[in-house]
Amino acid sequence: MDFNFTKDQIFFREQFVKTINEIVAPHAKHIDKVDTFPFEIFKKIGSLGYYSIRYPKEIGGMDADCTTFTIFTEELARVSISFAAIATMQCLMGTDFLFRFGTDDIRQRLLIPAIRGEKIGTIAFTEPDCGSDLGAIKTRAKKSGNEYILNGRKLWITNADVADFVTVVATIDPSKRLNGLAFFLVEKGTQGFYSGQKIEKMSARGSVTGELIFDDCRIPATNLLGEEGKGAKYLENILSEIRIMIAGLGVGLARAAFEAGKKYAKEREAFGKTIGNFQLIQDKIAEMETRLKTSWLLTYYAAWLKDRGQLAVKESAMAKFYSTETANFIVDQVTRIFGAYGIAEEYDVERYFRDARFLLFGGGTSEILKTIIARESLK
Ligand SMILES: Cc1cc2nc3c(=O)[nH]c(=O)nc-3n(C[C@H](O)[C@H](O)[C@H](O)COP(=O)(O)OP(=O)(O)OC[C@H]3O[C@@H](n4cnc5c(N)ncnc54)[C@H](O)[C@@H]3O)c2cc1C
Repeated sequence: MDFNFTKDQIFFREQFVKTINEIVAPHAKHIDKVDTFPFEIFKKIGSLGYYSIRYPKEIGGMDADCTTFTIFTEELARVSISFAAIATMQCLMGTDFLFRFGTDDIRQRLLIPAIRGEKIGTIAFTEPDCGSDLGAIKTRAKKSGNEYILNGRKLWITNADVADFVTVVATIDPSKRLNGLAFFLVEKGTQGFYSGQKIEKMSARGSVTGELIFDDCRIPATNLLGEEGKGAKYLENILSEIRIMIAGLGVGLARAAFEAGKKYAKEREAFGKTIGNFQLIQDKIAEMETRLKTSWLLTYYAAWLKDRGQLAVKESAMAKFYSTETANFIVDQVTRIFGAYGIAEEYDVERYFRDARFLLFGGGTSEILKTIIARESLK
């Protein structure tokens, strides 16, 4: 057994920590406060090549392994969940289908600029009436000559009103449920494609979330990414990676909150002692650190399996479930340690408390993940 990171992974973490501590951290509070897309910061991080982290060298990527990508997500979340939501969308879900199925033209015009931070991408599964149940997707794609015509609405879409392009999941035949799904590329400015309402929310602010509308939206047939009806199958290939990525976010956010809680417990005095001397506070510290370490182990174990070519279906579900629930547990405990100051804007812990909720939904809710874990266990 070996619990050590490689030299390259350690070097990556050191460099990336320096970068985000300098470029993102000083603005984390502001990004949350104003709740608008941070274009300048987005471009700066892109110009340093970080959105290409998972992609191979032949398209200008860093060709990093899943463990390194997890380090990236952990350190991002330690600083800003809002920016982490934006950056991870750009690195993974927002661009992956263009990489796997895009024509040369799509790769040159959209994918390569996106991994340099010059264009913004996103993905759209969720609809007003369905989230977890992808088989119930209603957005319809109909072939007409050498075009597809899209009709439907998507909701809860990250970067909805700022994205230059979106990978849309639509159905060719709703009666086929998951077997009717396909992925399509739609570019901003396409006739019949609009962004609708913005969702005002308490978590991951600055990573703007909204609605996309397709009203007789015509796209070239070459914008079909992959084959009709194979959408659910293609998704399986990146679902573990998405779950490990969000588990990494959970570890990073929990780490930031835990460190803040420990520091406060050593400084704040009550009844003539620092509060860290009280056994009931120590109980919180002990439980938080144990759960944080367990999240860390599950998350990096799943990434390690992925790096060895395994799908890690159960392990990635366990990592995402445990790490995100733990992040929510830790932000709750830490805000209690802070007493009234736990809800004061003056401290970051109030932002951590709000941001932890964001982790519970994308990539599968805890209920869905437990269903998967049990299904895999009982096989
Ligand atoms: C900030 C943010 C950004 C997002 N960005 C995107 C994006 O960019 N693109 C995108 O497509 N989506 C995005 N989403 C949506 C996200 O993927 C969905 O929230 C998620 O898939 C869950 O769907 P839902 O919220 O509709 O919940 P539902 O699926 O309606 O579930 C509601 C409740 O029922 C439970 N439930 C559902 N089915 C079962 C079952 N079989 N067994 C037990 N319990 C069940 C769920 O666990 C949950 O508790 C985003 C969400 C948020 C909060």
